[in-house]
Amino acid sequence: MSGSGIHKVTVLGTGVLGSQIAFQTAFSGFEVTAYDISDEAVAQGRERFAGLAKTYQHDGVPGAADGKADEALARLAATADLAAAVADADLIIEAVPEVLTIKQETYEKLGKLAPEKTIFASNSSTLALSDLVGYTGRPGKFIGLHFANQIWKFNTAEVMSTTETDPAVFDTLLAFAAEIGCVPIPIHKEKPGWLLNSLLVPFLSAAQDLAFGGYAEPADIDKVWRIGTGAPKGPFEILDIVGLMTPYNISLHGDAHQQEIAAWLKENYIDKGKLGIASGEGFYTYPRES
Ligand code: NAD
Repeated sequence: MSGSGIHKVTVLGTGVLGSQIAFQTAFSGFEVTAYDISDEAVAQGRERFAGLAKTYQHDGVPGAADGKADEALARLAATADLAAAVADADLIIEAVPEVLTIKQETYEKLGKLAPEKTIFASNSSTLALSDLVGYTGRPGKFIGLHFANQIWKFNTAEVMSTTETDPAVFDTLLAFAAEIGCVPIPIHKEKPGWLLNSLLVPFLSAAQDLAFGGYAEPADIDKVWRIGTGAPKGPFEILDIVGLMTPYNISLHGDAHQQEIAAWLKENYIDKGKLGIASGEGFYTYPRES
């Protein structure tokens, strides 16, 4: 069925992103096996899949309400047996916790358990592929494949080569990303932050710097960005969607100035329960017209 040559896909980790990747892949017609570390985690993963089936219908994803969401569930197996999960995989997409040692141990195991044909793709947001490749036992078949949260709506798939990735594997992954309904974005060499976050993180930091420095109010910073560029949303509207804990944690681990910004976020927003859209209030209050 697939021009990429990928038929069987295994997803490691059934958390926030792993469950979405697994469901979107099954929804696109692939046989998917999801792996998680314990029967309890697998059961939670199954609940997430069932929740996603409802969300796809609720959000009007084409075909979801006409049986496609239920068919996706039927194509999705879940197990806590790693050897069985990877035994016949053409592609393994790794979405295990963002902890270097967990990822390294995972690749070490996969290198031994997976057949030679299997491509390994990491969805890691912040860890370097070059810190993982040495554990895979197959550098030519190791690659980055990064999705955005809420994959059915924000459907970019950044595909990142390392210096050792086989060019044919890069092409395979670009084709596969399109087959699962994503827009493939090729990245030719390793870039921490991928493309999206390499643009977004400095942009959002610059906006916080302006508000923290007392130069202007968040709403006016958003306004100049929207009107001046035609962009639909300003940086503080985006920050409310991302949630304020993420920029807080990024600034907290930055230099002295960034730590001052973290303290400002904490005192004025986080400590007051203003965490963004999810908490009903951030830089704006919700629900809110446009
Ligand atoms: P999460 O904590 O929601 O889920 C992690 C899952 O991995 C859990 O189900 C956990 O039980 C499981 N797990 C723990 N140890 C494991 C192991 N040894 N082997 C297999 N599974 C194991 O995390 P998440 O937000 O889904 O993030 C997963 C990866 O996706 C990270 O690398 C993260 O950087 C990346 N990512 C996350 C987002 C996001 O918005 N959450 C966006 C893009 C990429």
